[in-house]
Order: sequence, then C-alpha cells, then structure tokens
Amino acid sequence: MALRQIREMGDPILEKKSKEVKEITPRLKELLDDMWDTLHDAQGVGLAAVQVGILKRLFIVEISEDEKYTFVNPRIVLSEGEQTDYEGCLSVPGKVGKVTRPDHVIIEAFDEHMNPITVEGNELLARAMCHEFDHLEGRVYVDLVEGGLYDADAVPEED
Ligand code: ZN
Repeated sequence: MALRQIREMGDPILEKKSKEVKEITPRLKELLDDMWDTLHDAQGVGLAAVQVGILKRLFIVEISEDEKYTFVNPRIVLSEGEQTDYEGCLSVPGKVGKVTRPDHVIIEAFDEHMNPITVEGNELLARAMCHEFDHLEGRVYVDLVEGGLYDADAVPEED
C-alpha cells in the first residue's frame, strides 16, 4: 500500500488542465493503485490524478462496493436534471458547501485496461462524476458553492 500526498487548495496545480492519457504504462498502473489506497485511507468518494500532483485525465470514484469506477480520458456525453446538496473535496479538508449539479450524467471513458466504458450515474454518483471531471479541467468545487463553505461538522440545519 502506497499513499500519495493529496494536494490542497492554494496549490496552483489544482487550477491546471490535465492532459489526455495515451496508454496505461506500468507507472500509470502504479499511480492508479496508489490513488485507490489514498482514496480509501482518506475515506473519500472520488479522487482525480491532479489531486496527487499528476496532470493526467483520469479519476476514480467509489460510491459503494458495487459502484466503483476508473475513468480514463472521460467525456460527459449526457448531463441533465438538477440536484442541490452539500459536497466536499479531499483537497479542501474538513469543509463542505452546497453545490447544484446535474442529477443524471453519462460519461464515456476508458477503464484501467483502456477498454471503452460507459457509466451512467444518478444522484451521488452523478455528483461525484461531475466533481471529479471538473478537477481535470482545473476547476475546484468551491467556485460553484452557493452560500459559503462550512466546517463539515457544523453544517446548518435545513429549514
Ligand atoms: Zn475534489
């Protein structure tokens, strides 16, 4: 098990656009393994390569044991509906903010073997896919937050 250091907000790399993956090299395979270890260690839902300092277009998402995906060179091919909820980011530790996202998303990508995949997500999966995709474009969720950031353990009660 190898953990990578998670880059935090203020690190300029998080604002950079990631580059297409041409092939899955042994180095990239190792990166993916480390990203899974790092995601599990941090108890997160998703992690993009740029968050561990590598500007490659890939991210991982795990909603549950049955819903875990590796996305390489993803393209959002459908995005519809709307959902508003709190979300957080491993690069913004301890904070959450309310963000409106599509609630139905389809992404075409490649898996860790460069086989084409299509992943359809609703609710949390759709939110996580959009959040991670944004990282590849150099966008961090804090720019989309409505009503400011809160400490994760001090979220205001809903009316
Ligand atoms: Zn994030």
